[in-house]
Amino acid sequence: MEKKKRIEVVIPCYNEEECIPLIYQSIHEVAKKLPEYQVSILYVDDGSGDASFAKIKEVSERADENEVHYISFARNFGKEAAIYAGLKNSTADYIALMDADLQHPPELLLEMVKGIEEGYECCGARRVNRNGEPPIRSAFSRLFYSMATKMTSTKMEQGTTDYRLMSRKFVDAVLAIGEKNRFTKGIFAWVGFDTKWIEYENVERAAGNTKWSFSGLLRYAVNGFMSFATAPLRGAIYLGFIVMIVALVYGIYIALNMLISGGVKSGYSSIMFAILFIGSIIILLLGIIGEYLARIYMEVKNRPIYIAKAEKLDENTEMKD
Ligand code: UDP
Ligand code: MG
Repeated sequence: MEKKKRIEVVIPCYNEEECIPLIYQSIHEVAKKLPEYQVSILYVDDGSGDASFAKIKEVSERADENEVHYISFARNFGKEAAIYAGLKNSTADYIALMDADLQHPPELLLEMVKGIEEGYECCGARRVNRNGEPPIRSAFSRLFYSMATKMTSTKMEQGTTDYRLMSRKFVDAVLAIGEKNRFTKGIFAWVGFDTKWIEYENVERAAGNTKWSFSGLLRYAVNGFMSFATAPLRGAIYLGFIVMIVALVYGIYIALNMLISGGVKSGYSSIMFAILFIGSIIILLLGIIGEYLARIYMEVKNRPIYIAKAEKLDENTEMKD
């Protein structure tokens, strides 16, 4: 018998105790509709503080052999690290990435498999609306995508999610990007390949709460932007030029003024203003340079992206714990 192709669904979980059995059930149902594939799940427990890991183990014991794998982190390393760990540790032919909270409808996998069979290296889901999300959050997110696409040479499209099914080739390309501070959305767009988009309506979380606060999202956006764009550094040069030209013109004006009418005008306020203005620009630019420097520093340290405390992977060969 020819060996079935394998699809593994990577699910990052951070405090998702209620969702873990639910998503297992839905994927299990979907898998029945994909008889020509062997479908498995790889839960990545991102250092949850609740009973998530216990739930994962429970699900794994009840599931068919080799149907459920897991990695559990030593602490919370963040969703990006969880995604990386999942992709790195899966040996499947096709790897899907899905949120634990059922906001990424598992049935879409069926269509994604079709897309991959058509020859796409990646088939992703795109939200057509953001129902149930605070309007301010949607507005900022829209601003982020348009800025990111304009200022980085990477095309990040509106509404695209991390939910996708990828071929081995695509996953290997993503893993070849060795940076530690990973902005997966950007990385997915950066590797290229033909991606097929499937549209769906936003769904609300099945249980539990979102892990994102507004300030958390803002940090995520700034971080994502900085890991792909060097535009702020170039902007500093342009700004420098503009200020220099203004200063030159003003200098010429003062000189002419002196020659024509003689004497220097006293000008405490204008001098104070100029010093403070230029000073603040310099401090601001130092800050921007500092941000990039900090990133270089963190990358150079070369720390691992995550540390696992327990794992059960394909074929039970690497069983620890
Ligand atoms: N997540 C994670 N580590 C974190 C935060 C979130 O693995 O530090 C997971 C979370 O369990 C979920 C997914 O990332 O499966 C998306 O998180 P969430 O639903 O909170 O984000 P939202 O859908 O609100 O953007
Ligand atoms: Mg969610």
